[in-house]
Amino acid sequence: MFTADTHADTLYALKLRGAAPDRLMITPEKLRQGGVTLQTLALFTGGATEEAEAESNVLQELQALPFFLEAGFRQVLSPQEASADHPGILLSMEGGEALSASDEKVSFWHERKVRMVALLWNHPNALGFPAKGGFTQGLTPEGIARARKMQQLHMAVDVSHLNEAGFWDLYRYTFRPPMASHSCCSALCGHPRNLTDEQILQMIRCGGYIGVNFCPAFLDEGEDADLETVARHILHICDLGGEDIVGLGSDFDGIARTPRGLSGPQDLPALFDVLRAHGMEETQIRKVAGENFTAYFHRISS
Ligand SMILES: [Zn+2]
Repeated sequence: MFTADTHADTLYALKLRGAAPDRLMITPEKLRQGGVTLQTLALFTGGATEEAEAESNVLQELQALPFFLEAGFRQVLSPQEASADHPGILLSMEGGEALSASDEKVSFWHERKVRMVALLWNHPNALGFPAKGGFTQGLTPEGIARARKMQQLHMAVDVSHLNEAGFWDLYRYTFRPPMASHSCCSALCGHPRNLTDEQILQMIRCGGYIGVNFCPAFLDEGEDADLETVARHILHICDLGGEDIVGLGSDFDGIARTPRGLSGPQDLPALFDVLRAHGMEETQIRKVAGENFTAYFHRISS
């Protein structure tokens, strides 16, 4: 089964947090155990507010990529290039500081094979305002321009960490549907990082994609999460009509704790079993596992 995860911080954990490989949530071996066909790895700006520091951070993280490539994963530019025989790594960026200065910077990272970009992390930057902190301003003119440049290059604009005003600005001022690489549902857990039903319905109408995050604080207000809790967020998006846009956005190696029974990609088959127990058909499981992410990339590439 084609299985895709749309967000993990393993490169950051390896290079900037100095995590020992045997302490990682994601390793090539665990990806194989879990049958992961496509792993998206984020180049995280690391909370840097200045372009030079952000760029230095992400360039260091790029140096950790051989950890996966030397273990048989190949770098791909879209999900459809990955398969069970040739599992792939897709690069994303988390935090727009390294490309906020100009459209040329967007092209620079496109040439370095980055295909998804979250405009913000947890602090305001030149592009807009984060979900964290209660900001009500939308995207800046630079934020709109960089998002449009990304879309011209068929890169995905990622709304995870972006505030709600910025989310709606993307629909107002840009021309392709954005995605949320690692976000959950506000209706089930009132965390500012989560998406409201109105946002989810808009993403369904416009053909977006939502990778459900495995962070216990986003899944449950008491931070008491297990496989069942993750399944509830997936099923909630399906209940709203989002069977064709929901997927997995683990946030592994970026979260301090994991839901019970889901400590790494090796446990994903157990999550699919919980979805089956809720009556999901195999065709629906395949969509959630990864086909929806591939279909989203087709939509932004046409
Ligand atoms: Zn994040």
